[in-house]
Amino acid sequence: MERFQHYIDGQFEDGKDSFASLDPATGVPWAEMPLASAHDVDRAVTSAHRAFLSAPWATMTATARGKLLYRLADLVQAAAPRLAALETRDTGKIIRETSAQIAYVAEYYRYYAGLADKIEGAHLPIDKPDMEVWLRREPVGVVAAIVPWNSQLFLSAVKLGPALAAGCTVVLKASEDGPAPLLEFARLVHEAGFPPGVVNILTGGPEAGQALTTHPKIAHIAFTGGPETARHILRASAENLARTSLELGGKSPFIVFDDADLDSAANAQVAGIFAASGQSCVAGSRLLVQRSVKKPMLARLIAKAGAVAIGAPDRMETEVGPLCTARQRDRIVRLVERSVAAGARVVAGGVAPDGPGFFFPPTILDCSDAPEAPALHEEFFGPVLSVVTFDTEDEALAMANGTDYGLASGVFTRSLTRAHRMIRGIRAGIVWVNTYRAVSPIAPFGGHGLSGHGREGGMAAALDYTTIKTVWLRTSDDPIPDPFVMR
Ligand code: NAD
Repeated sequence: MERFQHYIDGQFEDGKDSFASLDPATGVPWAEMPLASAHDVDRAVTSAHRAFLSAPWATMTATARGKLLYRLADLVQAAAPRLAALETRDTGKIIRETSAQIAYVAEYYRYYAGLADKIEGAHLPIDKPDMEVWLRREPVGVVAAIVPWNSQLFLSAVKLGPALAAGCTVVLKASEDGPAPLLEFARLVHEAGFPPGVVNILTGGPEAGQALTTHPKIAHIAFTGGPETARHILRASAENLARTSLELGGKSPFIVFDDADLDSAANAQVAGIFAASGQSCVAGSRLLVQRSVKKPMLARLIAKAGAVAIGAPDRMETEVGPLCTARQRDRIVRLVERSVAAGARVVAGGVAPDGPGFFFPPTILDCSDAPEAPALHEEFFGPVLSVVTFDTEDEALAMANGTDYGLASGVFTRSLTRAHRMIRGIRAGIVWVNTYRAVSPIAPFGGHGLSGHGREGGMAAALDYTTIKTVWLRTSDDPIPDPFVMR
């Protein structure tokens, strides 16, 4: 068994307790992970708070912070194969995807490295002749970053990058499911030369999460996960009045009009729902297809779903691997059963295979006659696509917005004017037109409603980790008059 450690106050350490991490492809324990206690969390936050207030971090120039981030980006790039192999081993995400994604994670650190010394304040044309007034953008303080199991390196880069660029310090809690890549990433943080306490990385479940989010020294909670946990976190933030940014789930519509390039749409749809075995917050899990092209579109999707290579995630030829946990696989099985009971028709996949590992095949449910099926309303976080048909553009829009989520959406059409009408009408944080699932450090990412609030990526995310200090400076040498002497 491999063994991993926490990274607290610049030191690597074992937890008092530990737990075994299972290989999702076999269900067999492969590594021993430390389990953070409330006491460990307190030590990490205390260290981050100390680092925030004192030299060298507190007095470091923004340019120097950027240089540390550049170094980290280079180290992530160099270590990408090892990090990818670990993520694949611990979460079951296929090696093709982890390799490509982690190489790109380095770009997020690079983007925020360059941005560190471009976070500017402002000078105000104040309405008083003897005053200079300006705004300083200062780091908000200690950030609690909490991520789910999928894409942990990516989801922490979109928090650490902007937070460190802004001058904050961070306690990062890896998910208790598949924490290996982040615990390994701590070694790169150390090697990059961040002062002790600036970044602390630990893992644990709800108990550690609760201790972190209620800690009085936390100023901002950056969370990615499910809406139920987000509710806990908002309640927890009532303790310390921390700011929050919440990146939650989705039930994203993928809309195909009859003038679309169906081959492109089918390829994008397959990647949009079956990549990462569907464990993606932006999974295009609801296909809304115009009635006249339902048959050819569905035929393409069924053929592709049936031909997918399912297997060991560490093989380059595998296209769909296991789910991260047995719990997640069982949840999907139940949701499919409930959807079928509500009238959905299985047209591809649908049955978990016998044998080891937490596999579930690419599945397509025709929900045209099952408007209440859970497959149309609940996030599966698995490789399950639900399909409904529409006739008019208005109908498509009403269906697209008929969800409490609002994270992502896709529109496939060759009509420019229709695309613009859909862009305006869809209530979601992201609209992809004739493409799907594209991301970049330059482009903000996030949603509304049950999909959360706040944006990650782009300049706005770095500003989110700052607070404004308003400075008033009197420029007159005249003495300030005694306010109690009547003139
Ligand atoms: P989850 O909400 O169960 O767990 C997420 C993290 O929160 C884990 O680290 C967990 O340990 C921690 N946690 C659990 N209870 C806590 C508590 N009481 N206080 C503080 N932290 C606590 O989510 P999950 O099931 O691991 O991940 C799947 C969810 O994440 C899906 O809903 C998915 O859509 C969402 N997600 C969103 C995005 C996005 O960017 N919008 C990206 C990926 C995943």
